[in-house]
Amino acid sequence: MIIGERKPIKEILAMIKDCNRIIIAGCGTCVAVCLAGGEKQVKVIAGALKLARKLEGKELEVIEITVERQCEKEFIEEIKPFISDSDAIVSLACGIGAQTLTENYPEIITYPGLNTTFIGAPAEHGIWKETCRSCGDCLLGITGGLCPISRCSKSLLNGPCGGSKNEKCEVNQEIDCVWQLIYKRLKELNKLDQIREIQKPRERRTKDNGIPRKIIREDAML
Ligand code: SF4
Ligand code: SF4
Repeated sequence: MIIGERKPIKEILAMIKDCNRIIIAGCGTCVAVCLAGGEKQVKVIAGALKLARKLEGKELEVIEITVERQCEKEFIEEIKPFISDSDAIVSLACGIGAQTLTENYPEIITYPGLNTTFIGAPAEHGIWKETCRSCGDCLLGITGGLCPISRCSKSLLNGPCGGSKNEKCEVNQEIDCVWQLIYKRLKELNKLDQIREIQKPRERRTKDNGIPRKIIREDAML
């Protein structure tokens, strides 16, 4: 899922400085799980913005709304009735959600309330970790299901680098050396031969040719 973090209230206040009535639009999926943009967070931010405005001696009217997924236009229909009377939307979704609002409601400005940080998963209560770089050429099938692109500090395709100590990464002692984990996992599975084969540099054209990537599935088109 997409992991995001709330922008500082000061930064949001600066973006909405000329607005009297705003919509705070939450997203009930990824960013709700990482406690950045769900219904509860919409309420918290609405309260904080209103209070900050009050302290400046001004009022701020806020419409709070959380849709199931802000990146799909069917779900953002719920926001439409409030647009004509509002000055701006503050999106508490990832950048995809914020841009979906911009594309579908060009008559109003959408400001990002979150910083989109990475693709990851909850590791423990209150901790989320990056586990995928969306490189476009997944090699989990060779590495026992553990991603060296996102989890090795050097993104090595042929590891380990030889610098790890006590199974920790030489670059950052707080993280496990993923190549140690890959070795152990493949040993357990009796598949060590998979990492004896040297991996050539990956095909990164899909990522590095400078244009946004796109997938077309003709069988799914109407
Ligand atoms: S808008 Fe972003 S955070 Fe919300 S469901 Fe879509 S991808 Fe996830
Ligand atoms: S110690 Fe392990 S995780 Fe760290 S850079 Fe070397 S191979 Fe990668």
